[in-house]
Amino acid sequence: MSLDALDALYKEVILDHYQNPRNNDSLESPSVATEGYNPVCGDQITLQLKMADGLIESVGLQGKGCAISQASASMMTEAIKGKTLEEAEATARRFRDFMTKGNDQPDSLGDLEVLEGVRMFPVRIKCATLGWNTLQEAIKEYRAGLRGGRLVIKEDENT
Ligand code: ZN
Repeated sequence: MSLDALDALYKEVILDHYQNPRNNDSLESPSVATEGYNPVCGDQITLQLKMADGLIESVGLQGKGCAISQASASMMTEAIKGKTLEEAEATARRFRDFMTKGNDQPDSLGDLEVLEGVRMFPVRIKCATLGWNTLQEAIKEYRAGLRGGRLVIKEDENT
């Protein structure tokens, strides 16, 4: 897919996050660190969460891959910082619903809605949801008392 197919403003926001990813840090002692890999496009990220007092105190993100995957993960880090795990999960669910079914609650996702155009390109939805699926895996691992793991997105699932 060419980014030219997306609205110009959306493209600008996506490219800004791609070129200047937020929370592009390596945390010294994360509570959990999870890798996510999307074999369809070759996107990969490592997501670190540091928990304190029940909140996601800091987020570290490293990754490489297409603009959609990296921009979505960057926006995700901003959306979950300072939130509880339950709030982060709720946002992840809303984002996945938004990418697969469309949005009937305008304003609920803020900047993330610039990714709406990706819905026209089903194969790229896995790029947009990679960060979020990795987040959900990280939360699962953290709750299980694990320090991290690796998630490989299945090619035959929608998101
Ligand atoms: Zn991708």
